Amino acid sequence: MKIIDIIKNAGKTIFSFELLPPLKGNDAGKLYHTIESLVEFDPKYINLTTHRDEVEFKEMPDGSIVKRTVRKRPGTVAIAASIQHKYGIPVVPHILCGGFTKSETEHVLIDLNFLEIKNVLALRGDGLKNQHVFQAEKNGHSNANHLVQQISDLKKGKYLEEDLKNSTPLDFCIGVAGYPEKHFEAPNMEQDLAHLKQKVEAGADYIVTQMFFDNQVYYDFVKQCRRIGITVPIIPGIKPINLKNQLTVLPKIFSIDIPQELAIELGKCKNNEDAAKVGTEWAIVQSKDLVANHVPSLHIYTYGISDNVKEIVKAVF
Ligand SMILES: Cc1cc2nc3c(=O)[nH]c(=O)nc-3n(C[C@H](O)[C@H](O)[C@H](O)COP(=O)(O)OP(=O)(O)OC[C@H]3O[C@@H](n4cnc5c(N)ncnc54)[C@H](O)[C@@H]3O)c2cc1C
Repeated sequence: MKIIDIIKNAGKTIFSFELLPPLKGNDAGKLYHTIESLVEFDPKYINLTTHRDEVEFKEMPDGSIVKRTVRKRPGTVAIAASIQHKYGIPVVPHILCGGFTKSETEHVLIDLNFLEIKNVLALRGDGLKNQHVFQAEKNGHSNANHLVQQISDLKKGKYLEEDLKNSTPLDFCIGVAGYPEKHFEAPNMEQDLAHLKQKVEAGADYIVTQMFFDNQVYYDFVKQCRRIGITVPIIPGIKPINLKNQLTVLPKIFSIDIPQELAIELGKCKNNEDAAKVGTEWAIVQSKDLVANHVPSLHIYTYGISDNVKEIVKAVF
């Protein structure tokens, strides 16, 4: 079932959580365990991240530069299918521009369709560690709006090769990312919002936000989106803090603010256990307020940890 229909039919706030594929060499057991501990709370869908290969550029003795892959986290398509078929819960695999050519993306989408996966979250991805700016693959997409357009074209049966035989349309519900505190590369909020609107105009059905810790930031963002004519559902992203160092790590990685009140409470924590209590409590208060304000869904960033998610959904729903 498509996420947009699930949201429309629910008539109340629902919730989903985001998981990472297992590390290479492991099986999906830990992931299944996380899901099983949350199934009783009736998550309506599950997001599954995608990670591009990490590469390094190494200078050789003859002065030539070679590109070497140093880290891989594959498996999103396989794990997404496995979860969806095992638990009967729709899975939303994330698909990236970064690291993929348009042709590889087309193949992924064909595979997802075979596997009866009808939902994707279309993202650009970040630049590589050693790149200052994001660089698309040769014959890849430079921004998420182009990726959304490719998926929308497939929905009309338009494949990359115009003369392709059997160009059956592939039907997907498309989610995209939004940034209540602005994407770190955008020069200002207006331009970032204009780019977000391009993604919706290209065919995105809904938006999921980056994590935020002050609900007012989300409410203001929704208002700004509506003002410029973005009408699709905007799903808030909630991250329960579970480690003390996330006080400094999260703002650095995601370009978001931690409100002073939360920062003070986390600063008082002696260890990660204390920090997880503070983080969970904060996420509960945030989520209760969002539900009271009739948000369509809560997107909970779990990073594979289910205890705090359990506490949140128990307290909120
Ligand atoms: C809910 C969520 C899930 C995520 N999941 C993953 C994941 O699984 N794997 C992963 O690697 N990353 C993930 N990310 C991170 C995401 O890939 C990064 O934030 C990335 O830097 C931007 O992706 P985007 O899709 O928002 O890009 P875009 O929409 O392309 O925007 C990126 C930047 O380019 C600008 N821009 C957009 N369009 C144009 C244009 N046409 N011309 C010029 N500038 C433009 C925007 O203003 C913005 O500054 C996720 C983020 C969110 C919020």
